[in-house]
Amino acid sequence: MSSNPLRRVPLIERYRPFLPVSEKTPVISLAEGSTPLLKANRLSERLGLNVFLKLEGLNPTGSFKDRGMTIAVSKGAEEGATAVICASTGNTSAAAAAYASRAGMRCIVIIPKGKIAAGKLAQALTHGARVLAVDGNFDQALDLVRRIVENYPVQLVNSINPYRIEGQKTGAFEIVDALGEAPDYLCIPVGNAGNITAYWKGFREYHDAGKCSSLPRMTGFQAAGAAPLVEGHPVEEPETIATAIRIGNPARGDEALAAASDSGGLIEAVTDEEIIGAYRLVASVEGTFCEPASAASIAGLVKKAGEGHFKQDSTVVCVLTGHGLKDPDTAISTGPEVTSAPPDFDQVIKLLKL
Ligand SMILES: *Cc1c(COP(=O)(O)O)cnc(C)c1O
Repeated sequence: MSSNPLRRVPLIERYRPFLPVSEKTPVISLAEGSTPLLKANRLSERLGLNVFLKLEGLNPTGSFKDRGMTIAVSKGAEEGATAVICASTGNTSAAAAAYASRAGMRCIVIIPKGKIAAGKLAQALTHGARVLAVDGNFDQALDLVRRIVENYPVQLVNSINPYRIEGQKTGAFEIVDALGEAPDYLCIPVGNAGNITAYWKGFREYHDAGKCSSLPRMTGFQAAGAAPLVEGHPVEEPETIATAIRIGNPARGDEALAAASDSGGLIEAVTDEEIIGAYRLVASVEGTFCEPASAASIAGLVKKAGEGHFKQDSTVVCVLTGHGLKDPDTAISTGPEVTSAPPDFDQVIKLLKL
């Protein structure tokens, strides 16, 4: 391993002893992971907590999906796969397309029509994926993909692929490595429920390895219009502005519920209004632009803090799962208007109310 601090070490190299790789596994990497854990000073002060933001949007394709994809595609390459496939609300397809291109594999992506943020679609197409948009929701897209891989030699890279979970658990390792201990709480958005499952696995493995002496309470948040784990049954027509978590029947729902209950945490819902409020708040007071789904963790943090849920001065890590630039349309349509101005000094000054 290089000790050059300017080299971002591939996640597989950094955490090799904890990962299902061997010397024979080709390392298909875009230098993912090693993302910043930023202290949110103003949120901390406001809420009476020690709030940290895990900036997963700073991964190579702009979301945490890269952590899982480096392992899934590397293992696929080791096993001789020449093509990968996924159903996606967007970020999985962006990551799959990028890592497949890196590995010299074909990539097939099945997305729900019209519900993919512009940046994510741009990524999948530009990396050369074959993109099919089905007239249906994510859950239907995933059913199609499951049937395709049963019948054709393509590697599935959705988070039902266990290698995805193995990669994504390294987010938990990094948090412990950065804090020197596990946080008291982890706030995380929940869609298909792979990531909360992965973080919980990561914290437990690190705990067993003696890297931390406690475990966080896993505090997951779904969007109110797509909250099957809160309602206790699948949601036929999930609806939310946070398209990355617009999922009505999470593949790892049982594991997510177990993570919440085993850790003394919870899974609750936040409304789109709360999500957009949190999205604008974290961008305006912490300089951190995340995508709407990511802001579900902040919305949950603010809501539960308002209810007095967290012990004063607790350490809370919010996982900001994807970058705000993924979804410029939502940023612009929910934001303030641009003011037009003539090219005239006095009028510009007047408009600026300086
Ligand atoms: C995939 C994704 C999620 C949801 O993660 P799950 O593992 O499906 O629960 C949340 N936020 C963003 C930005 C995502 O891309």
